[in-house]
Amino acid sequence: TTPGTKFKRVMLKISGEALMGDQGFGLHPPTVERIAQEVKSVHDLGVEICMVIGGGNIFRGLQGSAQGMERTTADYMGMLATVMNALGMQSALEGLGVFTRVISAIPMDQVCEPYIRRRAVRHLEKKRVCIFAAGTGNPYFTTDTAAALRASEMACEAIFMGKQVDGIYDSDPKQNADAKRFDRISYDDVLQKNLKVMDAAAIALARDNKMPLIVFSLDEPGGFRGILAGKGTYTTVH
Ligand code: UDP
Repeated sequence: TTPGTKFKRVMLKISGEALMGDQGFGLHPPTVERIAQEVKSVHDLGVEICMVIGGGNIFRGLQGSAQGMERTTADYMGMLATVMNALGMQSALEGLGVFTRVISAIPMDQVCEPYIRRRAVRHLEKKRVCIFAAGTGNPYFTTDTAAALRASEMACEAIFMGKQVDGIYDSDPKQNADAKRFDRISYDDVLQKNLKVMDAAAIALARDNKMPLIVFSLDEPGGFRGILAGKGTYTTVH
């Protein structure tokens, strides 16, 4: 175990929208840097960190296809958006002195590394933050599924889902003052109650691989490090 936390290797999943700050689109460098600081403070504990970042701040395949684009092409555009976000996060982390590798499910050798599982494991052992980009490399999937897949492949102990709320509620806490937060909930209950945490394919993959999900707020400064130490409020899906 690592001092300050029981975790040795974790996956952090954030949506692309987490990087856009108050802007309606794209990356907001001070926001990216704030999240990078959160990652660094956990990295400083010696925890091995994998990251998956979505692409919704730039492009979502479903939106493109709703506007008449061919779905698979739109999904590839979404995957490329995640590569841009990964590079933005890499730049912010390296600015803080944290060695980082961007590892893409779609090879683009001039830009980042291709995904080779054993190589990625080696990077983690050398305490490099691995940012897995381009999702699963397949259309019709999401970056939530990519997070569940890579977390299992890398033998992470849990997936930390950094959100704008401190866990899973029975209704939207921003709309309903009486919304109740779950401390713990089963994968099956999340699916049955159709709670919007991750998409269903990702939840099922996490369930089948017994990969716990910890849903917490990335808005609290020091939140990620606190949650790893078991402090603060969050929901565990198990
Ligand atoms: N995407 C995909 N396959 C994957 C992961 C992502 O096709 O394995 C595409 C999909 O079009 C998706 C977009 O990339 O809409 C951005 O990812 P996502 O919607 O998961 O981002 P987030 O909502 O987390 O920002």
